[in-house]
Amino acid sequence: MDKDFTSALKKRLQSPQKAVIIPHKNPDGDALGSTLAWMHFLHFENHEAVIISPNDYPKFLSWLPGQEQILILNEKQELIQKKIEEASLIFTLDFNSLGRIDKLGDMVSNAKGDKVMIDHHEAPEDYAALMYSDPQMSSTCEMIYHLINALNPVAFSPEIATCLYTGIMTDTGSFRYPSTTAKTHKAIAHLLEEGANGTKIHELIYDSSSFNRIKLLGIALSNLIQIKSLPIVYITLTQRELNSCDYQKGDTEGFVNYGLSLEGIVFSCIMIENEKEGKIKISFRSKGSFSVNDFARNYFRGGGHINASGGMSTDTMSDTVARFEQAVKEIANQF
Ligand code: 5GP
Ligand code: MN
Repeated sequence: MDKDFTSALKKRLQSPQKAVIIPHKNPDGDALGSTLAWMHFLHFENHEAVIISPNDYPKFLSWLPGQEQILILNEKQELIQKKIEEASLIFTLDFNSLGRIDKLGDMVSNAKGDKVMIDHHEAPEDYAALMYSDPQMSSTCEMIYHLINALNPVAFSPEIATCLYTGIMTDTGSFRYPSTTAKTHKAIAHLLEEGANGTKIHELIYDSSSFNRIKLLGIALSNLIQIKSLPIVYITLTQRELNSCDYQKGDTEGFVNYGLSLEGIVFSCIMIENEKEGKIKISFRSKGSFSVNDFARNYFRGGGHINASGGMSTDTMSDTVARFEQAVKEIANQF
């Protein structure tokens, strides 16, 4: 825990603030869990606080306590503009580059309020007046946990505990990735004591699939391809395949992990076409020392963490696949 950051933030929070809290685009469990927990905390401390999301979030997260208060960029543009202009503090959570929040990036960088970054990705950009950046942390939710513990542990509530448990659980693959430490488990134990219901949260996140999602998983798995003589697999999903299963936001969450469940495979990729945005969203996952963060940065204008990253391509699916296969050839000596 960064003492300078904590004391500087504590000082700022001694007077009433107007806060805006922003998660990254396509917010996941950690992004939503951390922003919501932080909103509840700021409300408890009698500050004004509102969450502004660059876009909508999936159904499997639309039960998180407080989610109904989230403002979504394209739905409430004028109000959002006003909130950002008036904010005394702008918290950016679970990302470290303003490019990850689309149009909100310019609005935030032009705003007069001080920016505060709380994030666990590598290579933070230099836009924040106050910065708590720790790539060793399992999740932004774990960072928010430590922060609330340092600022005022009395503020923990079942709502905050539920939000933080969810983000830690989803970002650690249910407490199994190497970023999960004894400290993470101690945080989780405390969150259970504060009212998080682990079994219920697991069910709401992992046992809430629609029939169509499981059919789409079937298509994804039948499209799985291994790169010849390398421990690498990839999956493609075209817009047509998504449409055939009435694709809903969030349906493909977790599909890329099936590649890593194959014995001996250490690098898995999924490429998902988005016709409307004219691009292919790519997710990378790895096991061990192969850095998909570097791979995404070097070949697909992306980034993330050593074992989980993402990127994109504006080429067609077949050109993107060809580019992936070429990129993999170039790094084949790492396996
Ligand atoms: P996902 O594959 O679940 O979308 O993302 C995995 C990880 O990579 C997340 O931590 C996410 O923040 C990061 N990530 C995904 N897409 C991008 C991207 O386009 N740019 C950067 N810098 N990070 C990304
Ligand atoms: Mn995260």
